[in-house]
Amino acid sequence: MYKISLITGDGIGPELSESAVSVINAINDKLGLKFDVTKLSAGDKALKESGKALPDETVDTIKKSDACLKAPVGESAADVIVVLRRILDLYANIRPAKSYPHMPALRDDIDMVIVRENTEDLYTGKEFSLGDSAVALRIISENASKRIAKYAFETAKQRNSMKKVTCVHKSNVMRITDGLFASSCTEVSKNYPDILFEQMYVDACAMNLIRQPEQFDVIVTTNLFGDILSDESSQVVGGLGMAPAANIGDNFALFEPVHGAAFDIAGKNIANPSSFLLSIKMMLDWLGTKNNDSKCLEVGQKLESTIFNLVKTGVKTKDIGGTKSTSEFTQAITNML
Ligand code: ATP
Ligand code: MG
Repeated sequence: MYKISLITGDGIGPELSESAVSVINAINDKLGLKFDVTKLSAGDKALKESGKALPDETVDTIKKSDACLKAPVGESAADVIVVLRRILDLYANIRPAKSYPHMPALRDDIDMVIVRENTEDLYTGKEFSLGDSAVALRIISENASKRIAKYAFETAKQRNSMKKVTCVHKSNVMRITDGLFASSCTEVSKNYPDILFEQMYVDACAMNLIRQPEQFDVIVTTNLFGDILSDESSQVVGGLGMAPAANIGDNFALFEPVHGAAFDIAGKNIANPSSFLLSIKMMLDWLGTKNNDSKCLEVGQKLESTIFNLVKTGVKTKDIGGTKSTSEFTQAITNML
């Protein structure tokens, strides 16, 4: 039995969470795994109700669970996810961009993953005013850079792909910070002679993701660049509605859609739950690998192929050119599992 903590979130978060719970119930009922889901509050609603965007009880329950699923959070996102990443030391943010068939997307033949450093860079929120200026501190450490580089090379090693790591930075301008990131990745690359290693400036990478995305296998980059490039890479293959992410540490992991709370479509039953359901697939992979549980890996594959097959036959939500509602799409998945 696996204990799963679920932050239900804001905006489209509750609708996505409902879809996730239906799918997990179907996995329990039909596929012989046992997940016990505890719903938790965090985000704008929690802030309004309890004065805290991330209540202590929520953190305690997450710590006692085997893995956490997090639906998107609204305005208070930084007070929830950035804090959780730090408390739980979830240093690797994994954002796959994989093509699905019949998508209104740029490409249908891409399979890459962005490995984004998740604990430092400009996202630590160390900002202050100085006279009439505003300052943000960008901290890059050798330890964190090497740790994420190692994660990227290990990812490349396990993938059934061209076995290449592209280190993305801007060391020609930010010579000291990105210089350290680049040299740390280069050093780690020496332990992986069978994996191709290349470096690319972030502006060139942004261009190449559109121009020639097939050249990428694993991209490793710093926090801010990874955030931006992964929104771009998701658009190359199928858009934010299809984009899952994992925040992984040595002992714990949290899974969430790449996108935010999407208030413009909240409460309308039209959001694409695939981003969250594919996050469950990433959770199954992580639990399966960690616990040597082949059943988890099997079910993960089954969930992904079910989504893949549905989309292929035209059962799709509006964002990817279909007509199904969130609940209809979810129902189709639970029927097919
Ligand atoms: P954040 O700053 O938290 O990332 P954002 O302003 O970038 O938020 P998102 O919520 O990430 O906005 O999404 C951008 C737009 O993409 C949304 O306004 C919505 O129209 C669309 N979108 C995002 N997620 C989905 C989804 N699951 N299904 C359908 N459309 C989506
Ligand atoms: Mg966004």
